[in-house]
Amino acid sequence: MGFKEDRAEKKEKKLHDKYMKEAIKEAKKAAANNEVPIGCVIVRDGKIIAKNHNRRNKDKSVLSHAEILCIGEACKKTHDWRLEDCTMYITLEPCQMCAGAIVQARIPRVVIGSMNAKAGCAGSVINILQMSEFNHQAELIKGVMGEECSAMLSDFFANLREEKKQFRRDAMEEMEQIMDRRGTVPAPSAEPSTAAPENESESAEPENK
Ligand SMILES: [Zn+2]
Repeated sequence: MGFKEDRAEKKEKKLHDKYMKEAIKEAKKAAANNEVPIGCVIVRDGKIIAKNHNRRNKDKSVLSHAEILCIGEACKKTHDWRLEDCTMYITLEPCQMCAGAIVQARIPRVVIGSMNAKAGCAGSVINILQMSEFNHQAELIKGVMGEECSAMLSDFFANLREEKKQFRRDAMEEMEQIMDRRGTVPAPSAEPSTAAPENESESAEPENK
């Protein structure tokens, strides 16, 4: 019996990994567009009915989180605002807006890749998905391909920092080259414009007396 349970568990884990991989693929599309890599898929009856990624910068919209876009797609496809037979896979713990939408759509099961200690609303900061005060609670499965999901995020931010550093290095080099061409660095006191106000005030003094 233990063996059977073990097999069922393994089968389920395999399924979770399979769909999370699809969510990771979506997240990588976001990274390719210089967006924070977060991806989402919604599955119903063993089929992916919606998949999308963070497009906040591209759409210039705070609503363009992967989860919100996917919920919109899934509602359109099912002709229903209730997504009661669906499972959502997300690479990162949802924010308060997305967690709210998950509850509103009554999604019964949410599978999360990595947690977001600073802003996550599925247990990190608050657990909107499982509040007994609301009329809907979602089953939560955390840490599916968690390492891959969090590595994807940390790689993205490390690259961003490196790009910024490189940008500064390039700017410094360019400045140094300009200075080399000029020969010397211009001293601010040598500029005639800075000397002018002093003369003005000196000449204005006698009139005030
Ligand atoms: Zn969100």
